[in-house]
Amino acid sequence: MKTTIRLTLCAVALACTAAHAQNFPTRPITLVVPFAAGGPTDVVARMMAIPMGKSLGQSVVVENVNGAGGTVGATKVARAAPNGYTIFLHHMGMSTSPALYKKLSFDPLTDFEYIGQVLDVPMTLIARKDIPANNLQELIAYIKANEKKVSLADAGLGAVSNLCGLMFKSAIGVNINTIPYKGTGPAMNDLLGGQVDVLCDQTTQTVPMIKDGRVKVFGVTTLKRLAALPNVPTLDEQGLKGFEVKVWHGMYAPKGTPAPVLTQINTAMRAAMAEPSIVQRLGELSSEIPTVDKMTPKGLEDHLKAEINKWGPVIRKAGVSAD
Ligand code: ASP
Repeated sequence: MKTTIRLTLCAVALACTAAHAQNFPTRPITLVVPFAAGGPTDVVARMMAIPMGKSLGQSVVVENVNGAGGTVGATKVARAAPNGYTIFLHHMGMSTSPALYKKLSFDPLTDFEYIGQVLDVPMTLIARKDIPANNLQELIAYIKANEKKVSLADAGLGAVSNLCGLMFKSAIGVNINTIPYKGTGPAMNDLLGGQVDVLCDQTTQTVPMIKDGRVKVFGVTTLKRLAALPNVPTLDEQGLKGFEVKVWHGMYAPKGTPAPVLTQINTAMRAAMAEPSIVQRLGELSSEIPTVDKMTPKGLEDHLKAEINKWGPVIRKAGVSAD
């Protein structure tokens, strides 16, 4: 009897999907962030969660699932029920992790549905405020003279802070000690406390710290100066030629999440990115909102594939990987 009823209600899978999508959402949605609270990815997620919740008619709750440069969070989402109640915000680590990890417990290309690209965020090279250096050349000289003592904080292999740190160390030809954190939120706390010396991190976290003079800044990772920090030179213009990292972000759901549900989440995501207070805040943090064609599943899929192809050979050539 039960079987008959279920068959009648959901005679074909499509009808089930449509019914599910019509009722979606009936309870809060979890937005997984693969780094610690307080860091730049978390800042973006929390900025988006409230307006997304308003559009969807249910709250969007941020959950920080930290560890291993974002791969712990990605694994959790890859294994979550594909019903729209678990979604995921990650940055370009989705494209670097396959080459960085010999064994990855998820596949960025087959374990997720794409919702859309979210935003592009530049990075800054910063240091504790009492470091005895006042420009990049002095910082490099200080690092070289104190190679065994100086520490570089990051959020682990797969994190952009790690990638940027590797690029910096290779550009200046020094192999300083790296301290991994579960996100650059806690790394920033230790930089403020003077327990670590140098950090490369997104402007979504660093601009307010730089403006308040709580950290020292030595350069931005874009080829042009940033509107939010017009007096800060690029690393490129200070001699680290071609030093460029722009952190793109994407929103995903577990593979098999119904298409109508993905469309609803995409609509809410785009509405959040169009909210005037968010546009203004992101502008103050020098973050760029992608064009409408990029904020689509296809826009994210194409970009992720291109980035995997771009970073794979670079990482393999650099010989950086972990089990
Ligand atoms: N900025 C971090 C990274 O290096 C992530 C974070 O804590 O948001 O990838």
